[in-house]
Amino acid sequence: MVHSLTGGCRCGRIRYAFSEPPTFRYICCCRDCQRFTGSIGMPNIGGPRRSFRLLDGRPAHYAVTADNGATIHRGFCGACGSCLFVWPEIDGVLYTAQDDVVGVAAGTLDDPALFVPEFAVYTDRAPPWAAFPEGLPRYPAP
Ligand SMILES: [Zn+2]
Ligand SMILES: [Zn+2]
Repeated sequence: MVHSLTGGCRCGRIRYAFSEPPTFRYICCCRDCQRFTGSIGMPNIGGPRRSFRLLDGRPAHYAVTADNGATIHRGFCGACGSCLFVWPEIDGVLYTAQDDVVGVAAGTLDDPALFVPEFAVYTDRAPPWAAFPEGLPRYPAP
């Protein structure tokens, strides 16, 4: 079991840590995640907002309206461009109460191998050639 997660962006300006074990690990293939990562989806790992700490730097961010109507923010490094965070809170303002979690793009973990997906969502948005691990539960839309 993983007891702490640390990571950061390519240039090192932004560093983060979770003080509790992750509560979710999944692949999201929604169009927002595709655009965020420039890939077929985002390997998303994270946990409650209270367990998340920004250790260094201030991410640039933009807001999107998710399918459930919630406003979420996607954070990235304004210097190197690494996509990092999906979170509901910026500068102390909680934009959505029902989704008080912070997810990070698993490729930014110090040890990306700590990400093992438990399921994949929005798989109907992935390109037809996309391959998922054998036996991984897949949900076309949540
Ligand atoms: Zn950076
Ligand atoms: Zn997504």
